[in-house]
Amino acid sequence: MSTHGKRTVGRRLRAAATVATATALVAVPLTLASTAATAAEPHVDNPYAGAKQYVNPTWAATVESAATRAGDATLAAQMRTVAKQPTAVWMDRISAIAGNADGNGLKFHLDEALKQKTGTTPLVFNLVIYNLPGRDCFALASNGELPATDAGLARYKTEYIDPIVDLLSDPKYQDIRIAATIEPDSLPNLVTNMSEATCQRSAPYYREGVKYALDELKTMDNVYTYIDAAHSGWLGWDTNAAPAAQLFAEVAKTTKKGFASVDGFVTNTANSTPLAEPFLTDPNKQVGSGQVRSSSFYEWNSDFGELAWTAHLHRLLVAAGFPSSTGMLIDTSRNGWGGPNRPTAASTSTDLNTYVNESRIDKRTHRGAWCNPLGAGIGELPRATPAGAPADSHLDAYVWIKPPGESDGASKEIPNDQGKSFDRMCDPTYVASKLANQLTGATPDAPLAGQWFENQFRTLVRNAYPVIPANGTTPTPTPTPTPTVTPTVTPTPTPTPTVTPTPTATPTATPTVTPTPTPTATSGPAACTVRYSANGWSTGFTASVRLTNTGSTALSSWSLRFTLPAGQSVQQGWSAQWAQSGQSVTATNAAWNGTLAPGASVEIGFNGSQTNGSSTPPPATGFTLNGSACR
Ligand code: BGC
Repeated sequence: MSTHGKRTVGRRLRAAATVATATALVAVPLTLASTAATAAEPHVDNPYAGAKQYVNPTWAATVESAATRAGDATLAAQMRTVAKQPTAVWMDRISAIAGNADGNGLKFHLDEALKQKTGTTPLVFNLVIYNLPGRDCFALASNGELPATDAGLARYKTEYIDPIVDLLSDPKYQDIRIAATIEPDSLPNLVTNMSEATCQRSAPYYREGVKYALDELKTMDNVYTYIDAAHSGWLGWDTNAAPAAQLFAEVAKTTKKGFASVDGFVTNTANSTPLAEPFLTDPNKQVGSGQVRSSSFYEWNSDFGELAWTAHLHRLLVAAGFPSSTGMLIDTSRNGWGGPNRPTAASTSTDLNTYVNESRIDKRTHRGAWCNPLGAGIGELPRATPAGAPADSHLDAYVWIKPPGESDGASKEIPNDQGKSFDRMCDPTYVASKLANQLTGATPDAPLAGQWFENQFRTLVRNAYPVIPANGTTPTPTPTPTPTVTPTVTPTPTPTPTVTPTPTATPTATPTVTPTPTPTATSGPAACTVRYSANGWSTGFTASVRLTNTGSTALSSWSLRFTLPAGQSVQQGWSAQWAQSGQSVTATNAAWNGTLAPGASVEIGFNGSQTNGSSTPPPATGFTLNGSACR
């Protein structure tokens, strides 16, 4: 408490100093007049309504730089649309406040936000408070710098929360609406993971740290607090949802302002759970042996997506004492699940699990798979009070809390000084007991959590749903969140037709043997190089193929053929349409990557099975592009 007192005094002193300086200057009346004219705007119910959101220029520049390497004009233009979107600024360690090798500090961003605020349009600045002692207690990839000890908590208060609050409380930022996501995963871990010793140790510090953050942040009228509430695939069961609402209420009641210290909740932070399953709309529907919700994928959890979860949670929160004005946010930065594997209709199977697996857009092996899920795409663009979302979800906005392109965790051990460890949930070769003994489905070759992961970013943009417009402008939002609406895509300077991605076989199915497609290149035989790499485990492998057009003419479509060694077969491919006949594999361009300019490259890949269990599986051979041999 003494530290709290000290910091408050500090702030008062700074306010006084401002006035004193002003008094000594000739410009006194002007300064005072302008201060009076720009008195802080009042706290509103939904800060996002009628407001713009802050676009992080550092992240936008990284995206722009990725666009220059896209090797495909449509993809590059889509990336430039993405670069214009608002994303949250994460304070993921003490040094992030002042700025460190990974990014500019909070003051830089707040000053940039001032520049982005134009006229009377309010501006929301999405900020993530993420540094609790004993952070990420049920995982390793985002373990933090502060230990779950009294000393760790003291540092959290004095070296982390206090300096953040000091900066935010500078009067010059009083008209920026700060929307703070409070401590992703922390309280949810206390609901479901208290069997873990690490979470038991962290628990008191999570409660006290969240209380302190709320108390301090809510000393400013322009700050809006949103507590992280996991996602439907984590807390959706009533047996988790009810205790979660109780815990949120308990923590809120310990704060100085009680329920008024919480403006709302944010779900799906850094996760990829869809808003809804367009082809699984009734959890109670009977298929074959049981109801859809009783399938292996849903495990009796009726909340199939975030719209259901926010509605469910809001009901419980109000029952637990929160006001009905409590608003909900959903992180839609990576929950789109478009691309070639997205189903276009409900399955016709009469087997329950086959029906669910063929119908669902969420292509994870398990809903607990959280690390760099392969095949995910960007979801709905950030916007306030999304039209068409059910009223009982009480949505303030769709937001992008996790900046697309930043890794969730490294796929192998990477030494670092941030406290982050190697979590095998990020290793694509790992069969996880947490995922009912299935492969993690993580994207290979991932860097440390928070680092730029361009390969994943490219997939996220390509698999976006709704499809990201390629004209570099912010599109008119789709009228409803119903994922069956295909947005109109403005034609781009390239001749690539933008069409709804063609679905291929579901990932678990053995690819159908189809006749080899006839190459349809308009530019004749092609010259090409191929870079092929594969990493294996006992029964499978992941292969990446980088194909470069080394000819002098642009291709408008392409077909790559190669021969797999005996014992290998393609199980699930991406970024192309895949077919296998005997050992001969054909990858034909997807709708969005058919154009291949001279010198341009495309990256495709697949998960395969193998019988020889090698960690370095023998490579494919005999590559031909549109009939011509590649080097
Ligand atoms: C990482 C943070 C990072 C954040 C946003 C988290 O998983 O631990 O370091 O700032 O993601 O990318």
